[in-house]
Amino acid sequence: MPTSTPDALRDVSVIIVGAGFSGLGLGIQLRRRGETSFVILERADDVGGSWRDNTYPGVACDVPSPLYSYSFRTNPDWSRMFSPGQEIWDYLRAAAREEGLGPHLRFGAEMLEARWNENDHRWTVRTPQGEFYGDVLVAATGHLTDIKLPEVPGLETFTGELFHSARWNHDFPLAGKRIGVVGTGASAIQIVPQLAEIADQLVVFQRSAPYIQPRRDRVFSEAEKNLFRRDQRTVEEMREMLFWYNDSRFAARRLIDDYLAEASWQALSHLDKQVSDPELRAKLTPDYTIGCKRILLSDDYYPAIQRPNVHLEAAALERVEGSTAFSAVGEAFELDVLVVATGFETYDLPSSYRIFGRGGNALADHWSNGMQAYKSIATAGFPNLFLLNGPGTSLGHNSVIYMIEAQIDHLLAALDWRSAHDGRVLEVSSDIENAFAKRLDEGAAETVIIRGGCSSWYLDPRNGRATLSWPDFAHRFRDECAPFDPAAYDHGEQSAARA
Ligand SMILES: Cc1cc2nc3c(=O)[nH]c(=O)nc-3n(C[C@H](O)[C@H](O)[C@H](O)COP(=O)(O)OP(=O)(O)OC[C@H]3O[C@@H](n4cnc5c(N)ncnc54)[C@H](O)[C@@H]3O)c2cc1C
Repeated sequence: MPTSTPDALRDVSVIIVGAGFSGLGLGIQLRRRGETSFVILERADDVGGSWRDNTYPGVACDVPSPLYSYSFRTNPDWSRMFSPGQEIWDYLRAAAREEGLGPHLRFGAEMLEARWNENDHRWTVRTPQGEFYGDVLVAATGHLTDIKLPEVPGLETFTGELFHSARWNHDFPLAGKRIGVVGTGASAIQIVPQLAEIADQLVVFQRSAPYIQPRRDRVFSEAEKNLFRRDQRTVEEMREMLFWYNDSRFAARRLIDDYLAEASWQALSHLDKQVSDPELRAKLTPDYTIGCKRILLSDDYYPAIQRPNVHLEAAALERVEGSTAFSAVGEAFELDVLVVATGFETYDLPSSYRIFGRGGNALADHWSNGMQAYKSIATAGFPNLFLLNGPGTSLGHNSVIYMIEAQIDHLLAALDWRSAHDGRVLEVSSDIENAFAKRLDEGAAETVIIRGGCSSWYLDPRNGRATLSWPDFAHRFRDECAPFDPAAYDHGEQSAARA
């Protein structure tokens, strides 16, 4: 697109980057408050974030749908407890449309660079559609969004079809093929049962066995949905119940013995019930404390692994030569397709290399010892920058949407404060940021994420810090991080008035 395209929203109060649950949630709240001076820049051609990009067979949420949705847009129509990805994507598209976000969305507008301007105290965001200017920049760019390929020698020379689980090639026919799946994380265990049904042979490369608990999925009957539609309180009660049940599960992550034993028992008895072969069961038994990696939910993964056309290779994929994939224990497999389900860039976010604050410093440099932010939302040297679903927000036991909404509340209060104070710039000091980061590091040190004896995507391998995770009950995040305290921020300068 030429940079000269006229755009009423080129110069705004708030620039939001990213149109997933975070960016759309904030956009909806701004619209509902009658704000019009904001733009949402999205690099893709549609809204949805994770739910637009992950279209692999079997994709679904693993936090119950009544809870895995906005509290301010509950949905009585979820088809089941753990709704398929397409339904969640449709929910987000409908939310964007019905809440009037259309005029605020700019697609194909990747943030290539965002720069704080010391003269007018505003942000400039460069995109393929030209520059956008804003008083406030909100990075809602996600942390499970940029795919990560494993460093496997020869992978790029694989002669068959190769794709990442979050970039599924629906044009390639998989039926009757010899397929390898790399990884046994949350995506892989949803994919494997689906591919097992259609593959000639399926090899699953497992570097480390996951803990899997029963899923207990079920459809919502028409009677239930009618009740949800008629009486909003029934949806809210269900959300409430699911939230507190999930939040109680954090006790196990705190290594409290009884809760830990209960969580392990749920997983290991599930394995015992579903897998009778002791040799296979041994391969599927994790060698670290439960909760160190994400606890997975599935009723059909273990049965799929036992199908005659499926082989569990209890070793990582080590190298690829032509159409042959070699495991770390030297087994060779001839494959037509390799599905890489190895997750995302989580601790060293690509977007942080594109955001430049005071003195032209890159956020990635500021974070060279690990991501951190005051109340998970604001960071020193980056005035009027707010992060949604960034450092210190990830959960293994409850809904991320809850975290995002708490952050939106903080942000809306910050915007109100700015409006009431002549648009003054908000910035935290390094001391305030470091103190909050220290509190999170100390909290994480008491959790299974640090002490559970595994390596996971929650950890920054550069320093062993659990920079992505909120190391506490989710409700404590709201208590601590949703309130906005202007005293925590320096606020001397004012953004120059818009032209
Ligand atoms: C398969 C899968 C299943 C999941 N299931 C659950 C679940 O059950 N429960 C749960 O709590 N969480 C789950 N999650 C986590 C999920 O990511 C969050 O719940 C939530 O969707 C995050 O929303 P977001 O808007 O913060 O980020 P995203 O959904 O990642 O959206 C970020 C958006 O920013 C855009 N973007 C990134 N960089 C740029 C740029 N430079 N310029 C412009 N646009 C950019 C991206 O294209 C994307 O649209 C799951 C994640 C995955 C991948």
